Amino acid sequence: MSPSGAELLRQVKSQIEEVDPSEVHELMHEGVAVIDVRETEEYAAGHLPGAKHVARSYLETRIEGVVPDRSTQVILYCASGNRSAYAARTLKDELGYEHVRSMTGGITLWKDRGYDVEQPRTLTAEQRDRYSRHLLLAEVGIEGQQKLLDAKVLLLGAGGLGSPAALYLAAAGVGTLGIVDDDTVDLSNLQRQVIHSSERIGVAKVDSAEQTITALNPDVEVKKYPVRLGPDNIMDILPGYDIVVDGLDNFPTRYLLNDASVRLQIPVVSAAILGFEGQLSVFKPYDGPCYRCLFPVPPPAELAPSCGANGVLGVLPGTMGLLQATEVIKLILGEGEPLIGRLLMYDALAARVTEVKVRRDPGCPICSRHPEAIGDDEMGVFPDYETFCAGAH
Ligand SMILES: [Zn+2]
Repeated sequence: MSPSGAELLRQVKSQIEEVDPSEVHELMHEGVAVIDVRETEEYAAGHLPGAKHVARSYLETRIEGVVPDRSTQVILYCASGNRSAYAARTLKDELGYEHVRSMTGGITLWKDRGYDVEQPRTLTAEQRDRYSRHLLLAEVGIEGQQKLLDAKVLLLGAGGLGSPAALYLAAAGVGTLGIVDDDTVDLSNLQRQVIHSSERIGVAKVDSAEQTITALNPDVEVKKYPVRLGPDNIMDILPGYDIVVDGLDNFPTRYLLNDASVRLQIPVVSAAILGFEGQLSVFKPYDGPCYRCLFPVPPPAELAPSCGANGVLGVLPGTMGLLQATEVIKLILGEGEPLIGRLLMYDALAARVTEVKVRRDPGCPICSRHPEAIGDDEMGVFPDYETFCAGAH
């Protein structure tokens, strides 16, 4: 006679080892593999912190991918401790796992004991649709999209470089975009600053950018800083951001930004444009060179774009701003090879891209030292700017 369901369960439980939730709670951070064997929807509704999901129906085919070493301590759990008991027997008897236990009472008893449950964040149906082309990429997927939604990126300037960068970062679902710009929209901006529009002439650029971004993607929170970045405010604005997009047009502020970002250890994706040529690099503090390693002294004044209005081909900041946005997304996702220690130069007229390696300067006045050793009075030290620009004439 075949045993009844209850009898079978009793038999199975007598053949395996069980473990109380209190012991699981103590073992959680000890290199024990905690496996949730429930169905996908049950796991998604909340699971033990750090638990991996292998539904019982996929146990035989997927457990090796999650726990390759059969000598690992494995704890299985389900809702009440029954399914995990069957799963434990399978792992032990059929798959040869040496240390398998099933948690008594499942996640129900775990919760009754007052232990934490991790609620995985999921994308809404609308987000799944909006970011569907990201979700199809193995390098992004739901996890990567969550990273993008959690990311905080600060754009210095909503001008030629900041406009395209902000548009595409917003479209990609970067959750927080800070924008620092004290300027208003001018007719002469519209040849390249595509986040603004003709009817917004005279409007503050931060407000105009916010309107466009919000219309494009309501997932994005815009933080506005209608100020000029300077030594008086940089240490208030930068902390809390993951990455800075440098679209600055003047050298003193670039040096100031460099020194502050090294001290705060925030990577800066930097671009510069002049005429038909653009430059791009990623300055990740202590991982590669900083801006001062690359430019220990400012370039000659006649090449400094901030010393007066210079011509620029309207599409060029678009190209460079989108390369910046691409580097930002790579850094957030942790994918690809970021442009750290490399300076990319783009010649639009020749349609030629060249790259030079840049090394950290062991004698760099800023990044050769510990971040906490960089004092306030040392940040942004730069030759007198009036004198500097006067050299251009
Ligand atoms: Zn340096």
